[in-house]
Amino acid sequence: MLRLASYDIVFQEVPGEVTLALNISGCPNRCEGCHSPHLRDDIGEFLDDRLMDGLLATYGTSVTCICFMGGDADPCEVERLALGVREKSNGRLKTGWYSGKPNFPAGCSIQSFDYVKLGPYISACGGLRSPGTNQRMYRIVGEDKVDITAYFQK
Ligand code: SF4
Repeated sequence: MLRLASYDIVFQEVPGEVTLALNISGCPNRCEGCHSPHLRDDIGEFLDDRLMDGLLATYGTSVTCICFMGGDADPCEVERLALGVREKSNGRLKTGWYSGKPNFPAGCSIQSFDYVKLGPYISACGGLRSPGTNQRMYRIVGEDKVDITAYFQK
């Protein structure tokens, strides 16, 4: 099960959206120069349906998107929670996932999300706002994934 280390309402992580960002701990990746090493530890409350329902009840009407920041240790659970967000908001809330993996995981459907960020953090390349970044942000439109990384570099 995933754990929630912290959360925040953010404005720049997902273009055009007011986003409740859920920072998930237990990251299995070992990016050199990791910007959030505390997220590699198993810290925080279990991110179960009860906690998700509480977050949606408190913040669901104040945001337009719920974004899972991490969760690579259990991709199927990230997908399940994302689908739950859509269902419980009757499709009003969009869903995003910031994964540190280079590729979308086999066994999950990218259509379960409206936005997906892929790619490990490489300090020499920088994050999404760096012109030399290796990371990619996609907007999922039907069967297509549209690369919107350039939006972060304007
Ligand atoms: S994906 Fe990489 S940068 Fe992000 S928390 Fe995990 S190890 Fe650190």
